[in-house]
Amino acid sequence: MTAKGHMALASVSALVIIEYCLDIACNDIETIDLIAFYFSVIFGSLAPDIDESESYIGRRLYAISLVMSSVFKHRTFTHYLFVPIALFVATYFVQDYFTKLFLYGFSLGILMHDLGDMLTKGGINGFFFPFFPNTKIAILPKQLRFYTNSIAEHIFIVFLLLLNVAISLLIAKSYALEIF
Ligand SMILES: [Zn+2]
Repeated sequence: MTAKGHMALASVSALVIIEYCLDIACNDIETIDLIAFYFSVIFGSLAPDIDESESYIGRRLYAISLVMSSVFKHRTFTHYLFVPIALFVATYFVQDYFTKLFLYGFSLGILMHDLGDMLTKGGINGFFFPFFPNTKIAILPKQLRFYTNSIAEHIFIVFLLLLNVAISLLIAKSYALEIF
């Protein structure tokens, strides 16, 4: 999946959580916290492709990416399920509020990245590492998955963008209700 696709998909998940939080779950969370959470999710949604130096994040963090891509094959280690799980578990041991918030968002973003790649024809090989190391894991049957950067992916991105707009409107409504 392209970086645009990853960001659009992760953005949907972040906005759904923010809307849920505003409407139901949190009473005293600051807007700045929600914004920090949102950008942590977006950053997380790009992070796994650090294993590919030509990717969006790879080109921006080129030195790190060169090391990572020489150690790991693309769509392996950084894409495995245990990475977001380990980061999520780490939040339990972190005291600092913003670090915690960042880790929640970052791990969700990574998980959404993996979900996106599992919607592509390639899937993720060995996703459940150390279990099923040679099994390609994907979400839909192959006919319904798309090639990275194909027309089908771009149509999917347009759909995701519309979804982002719809949820943003709900968030705006929640804010309006809060103010008036
Ligand atoms: Zn990827």
